[in-house]
Amino acid sequence: MSASESPTPPAAETPAMAQYAAAKRRHPDALLFFRLGDFYELFHDDAKVAAEALGLTLTARDRERKVPMAGVPVRAADAYLRRLLAQGFKVAICEQLTDPSEAKGVIERDVVRVLTPGTLTEDEALDPRAANFLLALRAPGRKERRRKAGLAWVDLSTGRFVVADVEPESVVDELARVAPAEVLLPEGEEGSAWAAHVKDVLPRAAITFVPPWTVEEEAAERALLEHFKVATLKAFGLDRMPPSVAAAGAALEYLRLTQRTSLGHVTRIERHDPAGTMVLERSTRRRLEIVERADGSRDATLLSVVDRTKTPMGGRMLRDWLLAPLTSREAIQRRLDGVEELVQDAFLRRDARAALGEVRDLERILARVATQRASPRDLLALGHSLSALPRVLAPLAGAYSRTLADLRQRLETFDDLAQRLLATLVDDPPPVITEGGLVRAGVDAQLDQLRDLARNAKDWIAAYQAAEAARTGIASLKVGYNKVFGYYIEVTHAHRDKVPAGYVRKQTLTNAERYVTPELDEHEKKVLTADERARELERRLFVALRTAVAERMAPLQATAAVLAEVDVLASLAEVAAARDWVRPEILEDRTLELRESRHPVVEALLAGGERFVPNDVALDAEKRIALITGPNMAGKSTYIRQAALLVLLAQAGSFVPAARARVGLVDRVFTRVGAEDDLARGQSTFMVEMSEAALILRQASARSLVILDEIGRGTSTFDGIAIAWAVTEYLSEVVGARTLFATHYAEVTQLADELPSVFNLNVAVREWGDSIVFLRRIQPGTADRSYGIHVARLAGVPDAVVARAREVLATLEQAQGGAAAALKAPTPAPAPPRDLQLGLFAPPPPHPAVEALRAVDVERLTPREALQRLADLKRLSEG
Ligand code: ADP
Repeated sequence: MSASESPTPPAAETPAMAQYAAAKRRHPDALLFFRLGDFYELFHDDAKVAAEALGLTLTARDRERKVPMAGVPVRAADAYLRRLLAQGFKVAICEQLTDPSEAKGVIERDVVRVLTPGTLTEDEALDPRAANFLLALRAPGRKERRRKAGLAWVDLSTGRFVVADVEPESVVDELARVAPAEVLLPEGEEGSAWAAHVKDVLPRAAITFVPPWTVEEEAAERALLEHFKVATLKAFGLDRMPPSVAAAGAALEYLRLTQRTSLGHVTRIERHDPAGTMVLERSTRRRLEIVERADGSRDATLLSVVDRTKTPMGGRMLRDWLLAPLTSREAIQRRLDGVEELVQDAFLRRDARAALGEVRDLERILARVATQRASPRDLLALGHSLSALPRVLAPLAGAYSRTLADLRQRLETFDDLAQRLLATLVDDPPPVITEGGLVRAGVDAQLDQLRDLARNAKDWIAAYQAAEAARTGIASLKVGYNKVFGYYIEVTHAHRDKVPAGYVRKQTLTNAERYVTPELDEHEKKVLTADERARELERRLFVALRTAVAERMAPLQATAAVLAEVDVLASLAEVAAARDWVRPEILEDRTLELRESRHPVVEALLAGGERFVPNDVALDAEKRIALITGPNMAGKSTYIRQAALLVLLAQAGSFVPAARARVGLVDRVFTRVGAEDDLARGQSTFMVEMSEAALILRQASARSLVILDEIGRGTSTFDGIAIAWAVTEYLSEVVGARTLFATHYAEVTQLADELPSVFNLNVAVREWGDSIVFLRRIQPGTADRSYGIHVARLAGVPDAVVARAREVLATLEQAQGGAAAALKAPTPAPAPPRDLQLGLFAPPPPHPAVEALRAVDVERLTPREALQRLADLKRLSEG
């Protein structure tokens, strides 16, 4: 506080309150933390909101209690800020820009930073293993039907900046994949369908509406040119002015507004090419539990099994790789070559990983250097990390694969910088730069001198105390220091009469008196200025160090990226070696051959003793569709998911859990798995199932892999069979995708006799004493249909009930005969196979349901029409 400002909150007309009002006007959607001395204060509605959110006491700044106020101590502010951000708030920090002790008049204040969920850089607030993206969306307007949507996402904590132009219908999947913490939309979109989509896909993300001019292409281009200091965006492959340029400009403008500091670590824009990677629907990513399970937890996911990375950068890159498997054979081979060499050369792998273990989160440290938020501990960690680089490089020296040789070439070392950082900073520096004590002795002569002065001053005190005690004859005389009065001489009342004339009384205590002398005053000035000057000098030395790092930003970032990649390849190799995985052969045709394959996650989690039973997958252009039957819990879902996961792993560049794997490139993996109600969105299980089926039938190509688990379950049996049947036919005859279809409708297995591309598999089960033994072995043919009742008996359902159930089943099956037979595919059927001896499937009499089914144009059907057709179909089938 300066003399001109009272320690009580300012009245409306004070200059401070005018500053408050101005800052609040500029940041209306953020809570304004207004610095007043040792506190950040909030006023008006902000105070009420923060008091509620943080459990603070709401006070008032005026007697009339018209202006609510709440505050938090500056020293404890971090914890409060984190809590507010976690609740989705934004916070603008308005600081005192002049040192209160030196200010002659009004203290200058201004907003130095706006904290928002998508723009954080502090380790404590971030997940080390996931990026923290801010994403700007430039959606096509109503009049620009044909245009793509522009997306730009930037991780301020690492400097990664990516843009993509995507088809409007893919926006939702991209949003889900990038999973930003905050989304920017232009003002005016508040009630739009796009805003609704964002809320729906990213319920936890903050949405910020930005001025529409920031997404205008010209303004956006200007912002980008200026930031990257280039004359055109050609270097980034962005000269055609796609919508993503507008989005990128808006993101950059928002960073400038909120950060108010250098963004020197945002050195380039990457272009994400959707065609180069496999598209994974949001539902597919969730169902296959790639990086996260449905409940949001991270254990027992594909990532948790393959992540043995040593650095946070590697962890983030591996996550990216799994979420965006590649579609180019060459790019996949490049990764696999690297993994293979690291699998084969155990020494290389061990040494590289050991050295990587000494490397800290370079990307995030560099981001804090650029934004001028790096702490002394950050720079020390950087120094240690850089000094480990030669030890990462050395084992790579003999690498023969192109992949590792390239990485080795791109890996720069920074011995001089490492040396300078470690030689300058003390071993255990304080977390902040203002307190001093961070620079080693011997680094700077002037600093050493000032420190000597301060230290000698302390010796001087001891000598002075001894001299004064001797001179006055007061043995208990003490020289002390406190913040308010500075240095003083303390004499107990018992010796009051011995106090010499030169002592000036300063403070009276219960049993002592405190004095000052001119010598003590003079000394005090010397000490204080020496300390202060030393601290200031240390701050400057630190800034110089930080600047030296900032000057090498681009090459340092490039090295961090190389380290991340070596880390990921070594992690994949480590898992492959430890779990006996093999290198998949990548083909351009429609083969999917997995010999003795295992589910990577289920296998890793099987509790003691239990062994995972390996199984084969064999699909190709001719035999494309496998129908898998078997009782509940037999292992059908595990089998089909396993196939999908192995394809993802292979195309991400990983080895796979199998004895042999041949994977023809897959462009997309589609899943329809489990009966997952989405009541929150007002959709029934059946509706969700059907819209997913519709999506697959419309979008899957001959290059896709389709995983279907129990389609048509959410409706009546006839409905279900009808749908399962028709879907399979369509996949076979129109789509041509490789398909694994687990179903409990044994009727559908008939299709294997109708369509050459379809074949049957089932999961072997044996009865063993009183229980069923699941053999987990996938074998050709269909399952014995009576397992439901069988299992009921084994579970102890009374014999009478079991017997009655068999009777009912027989009756039902007879009644069903006509309709089920009518559902046979249009081609003439050969005789039913031996294991279907139930006599249900006599050669098909012509039936109107079949005609109706044939007439359906599935591709053009809306879900509503589909339901209507189904009802019709059902009526027809029931005669
Ligand atoms: P279904 O889909 O047929 O109902 P699941 O695929 O859910 O059956 O499998 C049931 C359980 O059996 C799973 O929880 C899994 O732990 C186990 N399991 C499945 N396949 C195997 C296998 N090949 N080896 C060992 N255990 C398996």
